[in-house]
Amino acid sequence: MPRTAPTTTPGFVNQNGQMVVRDTGFGSETFPGQRVYQLRCGKCGNEYGANGTDVFKRLCPECQGGAVGEKLRERGPGLFG
Ligand SMILES: [Zn+2]
Repeated sequence: MPRTAPTTTPGFVNQNGQMVVRDTGFGSETFPGQRVYQLRCGKCGNEYGANGTDVFKRLCPECQGGAVGEKLRERGPGLFG
């Protein structure tokens, strides 16, 4: 499997209408080795984080009963070193 899967390319929309907005550049807290991607729900507009292995099958936590998303962290002053 290539490191860069097409399902994590910004603009990709998965089978549930969830669109990849961007690669946050932060590591996943639930799946070591994966990065967190920002997804946007095409139905309700909710934005949340999902790790790379989840993107293709992700359900919206707000309106589709999906798992709670990973924290979205903005790039900025390094609060965590
Ligand atoms: Zn939604």
